[in-house]
Amino acid sequence: MKYAQIVVNTPLGVTQSREENVPLAESLRERTFTYAIPERLADKLALGQLVWVPFNVRRLQGVVIAFSDSSPVAETKDVDEIVDPRPFLSEIHLDLARWIAREYLCSLNDAIQLMLPLGVEQTPKILLALTGKSLGEDLTEKQAAFMALFENKPEIELGNVPRDLRGTVDSLVRHEIISKRTVIPPPRAKPRRVKSVRLVNADALALQGPKELSGRYRAIVDFLKNEDGAIWVSAVYANTDCTLAHLRRLETLGVVALEEEEVMRDSLAGRVFDVVEPPMLTTEQQAAWEAIEFGIRNEQTPTTFLLHGVTGSGKTEIYLRALDEILAQGKQGLALVPEISLTPQTIRRFGARFPNRIAVVHSKLSEGERYDTWRRCRDGLVDIVIGARSALFAPLPRLGLIVLDEEHDPAFKQETVPHYHARETAIELARRVGACVILGSATPDLETYYRATRGEIKLLEMPQRVMGHAQVIANEITNYQLPKRKLALHKLDDEHADARYLDLPPIDIVDLRAELKAGNRSMFSRALQREMTRVLAAKEQVILFLNRRGSATFVLCRDCGNVFKCKRCNNPMTYHGVGDSLICHHCNRRDRVPTQCPVCKSARIRYFGVGTEKVEQEIQNLFPQAKTLRWDFDVTRGKESHEEILENFVQRRADILVGTQMIAKGLDLPFVTLVGVISADTALNLPDFRSTERTFQLLTQVAGRAGRSILGGKVIVQTYNPDHYAIQAASHHDYRAFYEREIAFRREQGYPPFNRLIRLVLTHPNAKQAQAESARVHRALATRIAQRGLPALDLIGPAPAFFAKERGQFRYQILVRGREPHALVADIALPFGWRVDVDPVSVL
Ligand code: ADP
Ligand code: ZN
Ligand code: ZN
Repeated sequence: MKYAQIVVNTPLGVTQSREENVPLAESLRERTFTYAIPERLADKLALGQLVWVPFNVRRLQGVVIAFSDSSPVAETKDVDEIVDPRPFLSEIHLDLARWIAREYLCSLNDAIQLMLPLGVEQTPKILLALTGKSLGEDLTEKQAAFMALFENKPEIELGNVPRDLRGTVDSLVRHEIISKRTVIPPPRAKPRRVKSVRLVNADALALQGPKELSGRYRAIVDFLKNEDGAIWVSAVYANTDCTLAHLRRLETLGVVALEEEEVMRDSLAGRVFDVVEPPMLTTEQQAAWEAIEFGIRNEQTPTTFLLHGVTGSGKTEIYLRALDEILAQGKQGLALVPEISLTPQTIRRFGARFPNRIAVVHSKLSEGERYDTWRRCRDGLVDIVIGARSALFAPLPRLGLIVLDEEHDPAFKQETVPHYHARETAIELARRVGACVILGSATPDLETYYRATRGEIKLLEMPQRVMGHAQVIANEITNYQLPKRKLALHKLDDEHADARYLDLPPIDIVDLRAELKAGNRSMFSRALQREMTRVLAAKEQVILFLNRRGSATFVLCRDCGNVFKCKRCNNPMTYHGVGDSLICHHCNRRDRVPTQCPVCKSARIRYFGVGTEKVEQEIQNLFPQAKTLRWDFDVTRGKESHEEILENFVQRRADILVGTQMIAKGLDLPFVTLVGVISADTALNLPDFRSTERTFQLLTQVAGRAGRSILGGKVIVQTYNPDHYAIQAASHHDYRAFYEREIAFRREQGYPPFNRLIRLVLTHPNAKQAQAESARVHRALATRIAQRGLPALDLIGPAPAFFAKERGQFRYQILVRGREPHALVADIALPFGWRVDVDPVSVL
């Protein structure tokens, strides 16, 4: 083959993309080029390799995607150099990237970037070194100047060679005067080192004068006497109240030795997992497991399963079994969770079952951790990768199973380009490698469930909750007076004495309109207050869920009704008690709380709506003894704070956890016996065809946090829409009822899964031009539909997006709806400013 097709990773701004009149499909191809293969690389170049190529006046990285004998263009440049002989992408991943580009209408480069371990900024370096061979006196002036660069340096970086001397490099390499090698720079993160201390001679202390025998030194020595070998200094500090200075002193006296040891930067390092034996399965789990086991064992029939099990039905246990089986076959597994920092409990359970065999991948890892993990995966050293969406692209050569927990979660769709959906992409990847997929959820995405009813996905149902935590509760039983009533709540599953089923917690709906009529102005209904009193008295725990953040949502003028909005985004601003400020959650603009309405000058400003801070205040008013924890995005910024907050609650250092969306995910805590939903309505009335589904999912998931153990539990949902079918179905734990209602609505309205949507969003600094441009694209689309006779496609919009302004820019959108909307959109010119989102998870 004489030519290589290369996808060049052009940094933004190198090529000015998407000009007017160039159809989208064509502009997406802009970064794929044909390069000639020079003689010296003829038998070295391989598919999926990362290479250097000349590009205008620069050198850029690219990935080899194909070979050919002829070139579509007359003039081609040569491939420069191979970055790493080992391909970065397997052929399967290359094919998957092509699929992503086609399916989500993004460029192949965008798709390939998802799969490369390094950010664009981490360009490999080319190092030059002297070989020791000499050219004698024959050096040209430039060559001599170049050779002078090596003074006192064994190696220099090509990037540091002055531009006018670079031409000499290739000839010197050819004459073997200098050698050239490419290195991927080591991760910027340094290995972590910890100090440890070891007792070498306890008697040396006694040889010192009486002053040296002070109690503190003695305590250190006594402590170390009970330890075998070296232990981390932090443990000594904690146990003896000493500092490094004390240890240094003892070191000079020859009593102890201080050492440093390198700790592998592994986000799980230092965590001790209790290894747990797999429990005996319940009959429901057994049935589901047998179906999955059959699929995993029969390679001819890789299957996608939908494991629809109520919250706490033991889905995670099934994932663990399936992964175990995969490992036994010598294959590898992938487990994807929506947001990894919110699900530390899940990681812990995987770690406990497969100690030292898992790697965790997520966005908060340091560059070093991520890079090391990627390499360990490519080398086949990792058996199971757990991670958020992007972990799907971990280079696992023997992939046998992909698990997606909470498959309905919108976090599986990437919000930035390329807008791929990890669920669909996982199914596609699995199909290509012959792996199985398990999609698990208590509230499956409507579209997934629809496919299951049609037999495209194999449906497995587990309608009963397993009673977990038997041991934890048993340990407490002596100091905890368990009411007999609660013991009677669960049914014994005869065949499996250890595993018992537990009823799902009853859900009471409280009509907030009636509360107001009865004169209760508190954000806690009387029923909720009553239950909280009871649960707190029993020393159990409460979770209060709020679908908002900040302590008041809107700030509004009582006289003229003016709502305070962000000057940049025109979005209602949120009041925060801390710092007394108004915050725009779109652009993060902060303003002082106004004392006067800018419209009518009235001073009667009212705070409308509630937030977590306000809930916390109200708790302090009503239950001054209760200890409260607040968990929302405003209090969790660092890497560990999610875990810290959660750990405090798990250890029962607090009675009440107040939180937003994030508490809906995966918490499995035995002492939580009451969940209160402050207001179920926030999401119901948003103009998004998925808002009802989201409300149902959220309520069901939040309710699932209660009643996880023999202690039982209860859920109270406060709402102004008590009769709404999403709230009714959630309160009866009736997924099927919700599904039937909702799927009928989707069919009638032509929404997914009956059609696909492509959302075109224009962001533009000028309101008038934004409107004109969106009208132009709408016209172009409409004209083509009419010309080609495509009645199966229709357009919604153009209209300002729900969040019509963001970061000072105006947003317009058009939805293209139909069975196959791709070809139409690909045919339209979408110059800079447009974003294409195929199968959007939200149209807000
Ligand atoms: P899900 O993932 O469906 O929410 P989990 O797998 O978290 O459910 O299970 C809920 C609880 O029941 C957990 O505490 C888990 O350890 C426990 N559990 C699950 N399966 C069994 C079993 N077969 N025997 C005993 N306990 C189980
Ligand atoms: Zn703003
Ligand atoms: Zn006013």
